Amino acid sequence: MRFAKYAAVIAAAGALALTACASGSPNDAGGDTSAPAAAEDVNFDAGTTMAKLHDAGKITIGTKYDQPLFGLMNPTTNKPEGFDVEIGKIIAAKLGLTEDQITWKEAVSANREPFIEKGEVDIVVATYTINDDRKQVIDFGGPYYIAGQDLLVLSGNPDGITGIDDVKGKKVCSVTGSTSEENLKKEGVDVLATDTYSNCLEPLRSGEVVAVSTDNVILAGLADQNQGEFEVVDNPFTEEPYGIGLKKGDDDFRGFINDTLQESFDDGDWAAAWEKTAGKVLSTPEPPKIDNY
Ligand code: GLU
Repeated sequence: MRFAKYAAVIAAAGALALTACASGSPNDAGGDTSAPAAAEDVNFDAGTTMAKLHDAGKITIGTKYDQPLFGLMNPTTNKPEGFDVEIGKIIAAKLGLTEDQITWKEAVSANREPFIEKGEVDIVVATYTINDDRKQVIDFGGPYYIAGQDLLVLSGNPDGITGIDDVKGKKVCSVTGSTSEENLKKEGVDVLATDTYSNCLEPLRSGEVVAVSTDNVILAGLADQNQGEFEVVDNPFTEEPYGIGLKKGDDDFRGFINDTLQESFDDGDWAAAWEKTAGKVLSTPEPPKIDNY
């Protein structure tokens, strides 16, 4: 089975383990359509973002719409599905909001900070790496997962690519505004930049690029969605801690998000969210340590 190759834990990405999973199925959006979780009974201090969202009875969450396993639009339900989406639902539930009270908004890599800064979304949960540059303009709760940047190649790996060193000076597709694009440039790779990772697949098929590069879990989702066409090189060269983006300086909200994540790590909700989405293809990792910066 294709994902059997992931059985070896990838050292560079720390807690990351991509393994074969019997229940993985082609074109599986990575989510289910079970009934919305009941809203929790909550009480927040007046003036906080938590009170504001709770009282308004709604939250707007930015997430990806084209990344299988983490955030993928289901055209039938017109709702996104995936691990990021489930994390968003966990935060909303803790605010006393039902799934029906969440407005989803498509975020691509480049518009995540602007969406938060302009107040177009309340939070972003979108394979969003916590880093110092981004922390200049927004804040992050988390991390809730640690990924690692890797390479996706055509099945059979016709160019014999074994890691980042093999693509230096060659053309590789990635996405504008992502850490992936930045890291490739630092490594001396010739980057073809587009807006979404799914838009990198055609250039890979046509031979315009020798690989697509971003976080291993995104690549694993794309490989699973397009059974037999692509494979992940499985040699990550960065660490990408995924955080929840929020308005800079909103420390109460950040603390609330961190407490909510920690609670979900402890009570099994985080693992359950993983298992019903990314866990259909990837093994369940240990939850990371929350970074209370
Ligand atoms: N995690 C990386 C980032 O936040 C790459 C994936 C993405 O673009 O969403 O930039």
